[in-house]
This record gives sequence, C-alpha cells and structure tokens, in this order.
Amino acid sequence: MTVSSADWIARDNAAVWHPFTQHATWIGDDPTVVERAEGPWLIDTDGRRHLDGVSSLWTTTLGHCHPDINAAIAAQLETLDHSTFLGTTHIPGIELSEALIALAPKGTGPDLTKVFYAGDGSSAVEAALKIAYQYSSQTGRARPTFVRLEHAYHGDTLGAVAVGGHDLFHATYRPLLLQTVGVPSPGDRSLGPDRLRIAIDALEATMREHGDQTCAIIVEPMMQGAAGMFDYDAEYLRAARRLADKYGALLIFDEVATGFGRTGKMWAAEHAGVVPDLLTCGKGITGGYLPLSAVLAAEHVYEAFLARPGDSGPRTFFHGHTYTANPLCCAAALANLRVMGEQDVIGQARRLGERLAKLLEPVGAMPGVTEIRRLGTMIGVEVAPSRDRTGFAVCQAARERGVWLRPLGDTVILMPPLTLAEPETDLLVNALAEAVAEVCE
Ligand SMILES: *Cc1c(COP(=O)(O)O)cnc(C)c1O
Repeated sequence: MTVSSADWIARDNAAVWHPFTQHATWIGDDPTVVERAEGPWLIDTDGRRHLDGVSSLWTTTLGHCHPDINAAIAAQLETLDHSTFLGTTHIPGIELSEALIALAPKGTGPDLTKVFYAGDGSSAVEAALKIAYQYSSQTGRARPTFVRLEHAYHGDTLGAVAVGGHDLFHATYRPLLLQTVGVPSPGDRSLGPDRLRIAIDALEATMREHGDQTCAIIVEPMMQGAAGMFDYDAEYLRAARRLADKYGALLIFDEVATGFGRTGKMWAAEHAGVVPDLLTCGKGITGGYLPLSAVLAAEHVYEAFLARPGDSGPRTFFHGHTYTANPLCCAAALANLRVMGEQDVIGQARRLGERLAKLLEPVGAMPGVTEIRRLGTMIGVEVAPSRDRTGFAVCQAARERGVWLRPLGDTVILMPPLTLAEPETDLLVNALAEAVAEVCE
C-alpha cells in the first residue's frame, strides 16, 4: 500500500522542525513531499512532477541524479568512505584542491593558491572571517571589525549572521554578534539611480574612519542573492579591491551562491576582473549533491599562518570539522567540475540566462510586476504586494502548473539548473506568467 503525501506531511509535522520555517502555518501551506528526482524534475509521493525552478535552493546545477556524479560517488564509496583531514589526507581532497586552484578567478588581486574545506556555505564564511581576523593579528595588529553590506546574506551561523544585513535574520541575535560596520549596498534600488556612486563614496568614508580597525570587507560579488536578487555594477568590486588594499584589509568574496557558472561565468568575480584575498564557495560545488564548501585563499594569507622561529604564538588555524573534505563530497565535486568542463556548462548557463531574459520580457511588462533583476541564471521577479504573502501566492499558483518555486518575500526567484532544456524553460516562464496573472491582476 502506498502512503499518500497527506500522511507523510502529518508524520513530518509530528516529528520534524524545518529550517527557516514557521511551523504554525507549515501544514496549511501543503508542503511537497519529494520522493525522487530526475534531471530538472522533482516527483512527489503522489506521483506529481514539479519542475525544480530554484535548483533545490540554488544548488542543483546539472539536474538531479546525473549519471556521472552518481557513478563518481558510487565508485568513491567502494574505495574510501571517510578519513579525517586532520592529520591524514586523501586523493579526492588533493585532486579537488588542484582543480579549484586551476579554476580560480584571475585579475586585479592576488592569485588564489590554497583551499580550506568546510561543510556548508555558512561554515565556509565562518572560516573566512576567522582567517581574516587571525591574519590581521599575525601581520601587525588585531583588527576586530568587519565591513559588510546592507541587505547581505552570508549564512545563518553567528559569524555569518553578524556580517549579514537582513534585519529579519539579524535583529533577534544582535546582542550576540561580532563587531561590524554596515555600508549601503550598490544594489539597493531605494538609493535611486546614483546607488553605485553613493555606495562607493560610503565605503570610502567608512574605510577612512574604520579602516585601521577593519580586518576584512565582505561582499557577495555582483549579486546579493538572498536580498531578493540585487544585482549591481562591477565597478563597486574594483573600488572595494582598491580600498581594501589602501587600508590593509582583506577582501572576501562570498561566491557561495554565485560560483560555478550561476552568473554565466565560473565566478562572479570574473565580471569585474577582480580577485579577492579569500573566496568562499559552496552550493553548486558538488552539483547540488552533497554538503561541501571551501575557502580559496591567497598565498600571502596562507603564509601568515606559517610558524616562524621566535613566534610568540603557534600561528596555526585552529579550525576544522569532523567531516572536513569528506571524500564522497570531494568525488562528487570532481565529477561536477569534469562535466562542467566537458559539456561547456558555463556556455549553456550563459545562453540559458539570455533566453530566460528574452522570455521574461513580457512578464516584466505585466502590471503586477515591479522589476525583474537578473545576472546569468540568478533571477528575481519582484511583484507588487497585492495581498498577504503575494510572492508566496504566486509560487503556489505556479506549483499548480507543475513548477516549484520559492520566493524571498515578494520577489519570486527563478534559478533553474544550468542545463535546463528549451521545453522546460518555456514551461518555467509560462507557469510564472500565468501565476502572476492569476494572483496579481
Ligand atoms: C546560501 C548562502 C550562504 C549560506 O550557505 P549554506 O550552505 O546555506 O550555509 C552563504 N552565502 C551566500 C551568498 C549564500 O547565498
């Protein structure tokens, strides 16, 4: 006898506490119980198919259950399941580090030459923040302040929350947070058409005032994702690089969302031709299969952690997790990078983004739509609030048309797998257009 979705949801509600979820309304929202997945499709326990329009929270780059990644994980499982990265090393961990360094962005700034692993985007950010602070204390004087952008999202652990700028996730924990200075975001539409200039001037003024206390400036390059897809001008990143150098702070690019082809290039940094001192990545690194993230570090940062005769302290980076660089995760990531290279996934992603832009033009002209923001296949469709949870209502209406979406407030996010085929791309946009028409007009 098969168990229906309704039964699973009742059992879920009795035993599970979901992330970023209000459980008072969870059951009423009729959640989808995913039983299996293939390519861009999620199939629920009632046999219904849903197009995965947000890549399972921005991670699935090649579609689900890709044969090459499946095979790589299975083969790794036959060889080595897990072995600690504290005191031993292993082949997939070494090979993945070499591959990431070979793919690292090039441009104004240092070469990224070392890879430090973590498990999720948040934990990569956490590691980067600690590295930046420790770097400052080991190269001169401890600088306890981080400069962060308003509306930023860098994850949900306390360090990552501290450098975020999203009040909904931030306000409750304020008494617990690190020392930071928030600066206006160049992607913030409320600053008007001069937002780039305003943001650069503000960063300059902030660094003049707090630069000697600042160990790092952290930004999501080119696109603030969780803010609701606030894209911004590459010039800001060039200014941030210049100001970080001028005041002796490190520059951190959080590419957890933007990395691995999401923006139509391997890294968002490439749009600006700027290289940070630390680059965090996660989400798409394993093609969306397994939890893995990394910090790519410049050589000068790594060197500051090497012990020297006469040092007062050990200089070691005392940080790492039980499952750091788990071989199964590394094997999945290596297979993902191989497929990306062999099948020109970056080119596919760029073309998919351009095709989506074209298809979305009429949607942008609909009366219920305020603005469409896009870089590559990161797309935010902002709808005018016409009822309680308008964005959510649009996603529910799209679900009835076979497309699964998740909003950020009243911005409906489209972030499909990078390899999405034309018929599914058409379905995605048509379902959205019909949902907007139904809910907003
Ligand atoms: C999602 C995200 C994170 C957090 O990653 P998790 O894997 O959810 O911990 C950090 N930074 C950015 C830019 C993100 O989009």
